[in-house]
Amino acid sequence: MNDEIKDTDQSEESPDETSGVTGQSEEVKAYFRETHEALEKLEKVEWRDKFNFRCHKGLDCWTACCKNSLIFLTPYDVLRLKQKLGVRSDEFLEKYTEATVDPGFGLPSLRLKIVEGEGCPFVSPDGCGVYSDRPTSCRLYPLGSAVSSGSGAAESQRTHFKVEEDYCLGWGEKDSWTVENWVIDQDATDYNMYNEMMIRLTLSPKLVAPDKLDDKKLSMFYMALYDLDRFREFIFDTSFLSKFEVEKDIVEKIRSQDEELLRFGMRWVEFSVMGMPTMDLKKK
Ligand code: SF4
Ligand code: SF4
Repeated sequence: MNDEIKDTDQSEESPDETSGVTGQSEEVKAYFRETHEALEKLEKVEWRDKFNFRCHKGLDCWTACCKNSLIFLTPYDVLRLKQKLGVRSDEFLEKYTEATVDPGFGLPSLRLKIVEGEGCPFVSPDGCGVYSDRPTSCRLYPLGSAVSSGSGAAESQRTHFKVEEDYCLGWGEKDSWTVENWVIDQDATDYNMYNEMMIRLTLSPKLVAPDKLDDKKLSMFYMALYDLDRFREFIFDTSFLSKFEVEKDIVEKIRSQDEELLRFGMRWVEFSVMGMPTMDLKKK
């Protein structure tokens, strides 16, 4: 984990009245503008647009993409990969990822560590070693997706575009797809659902203001969304449940279900980082 994101002290949080940011800083606006300009240069595709593509071991470029790409991870990507590998989230994050604070968003940004000369830590001569649980960007490739926003989450809009790398020979193949068919074929439905939830969270004006998030809030954001096993300990091994009202059925589910814990992590971030009224303190 990058030094820029410090360990949380695991103290109980309370709503922070000072985190109610209402606008975007000039730095964030510039970041969105630059990102938008870069995406504008790529060819956009609509849901029903067609493209020809096939990836298979017989191509000379087999695994070239896994050796040449930076793979960014969403919280749901981390959940699926640590489950696939049968390790704790903190072990997975330490061994396989690098975290930085995105200079535009001001929020933690996670990517797979590159192995010198080999690329992705999961690539092998046979292909992807975590194929059934590969990250969103690998799943959608050779398409990419981005979300643009107007003044807030309600106006967010997903765009798909072609990622046509020179080395990728799959584009010369005959198999025909629509964007919709490709997304379904790559089994990206659950990924899309959790990623959309995350996008709604991060596009909130309460978060899109890096100068307002101190190290403690950044750490809480990181733990509750990416480091789920430590977040579970934070809930069950501290006085958390004696201080906050949490529905009994939710408590039972988050004890063992990572997916439910991720949903709860988003709710906790809304409360502890964004100052939203999504949790109640227990009455004394
Ligand atoms: S996770 Fe799998 S598909 Fe993605 S870059 Fe690594 S080896 Fe390739
Ligand atoms: S066809 Fe493209 S996606 Fe498939 S292995 Fe080659 S470079 Fe990677």
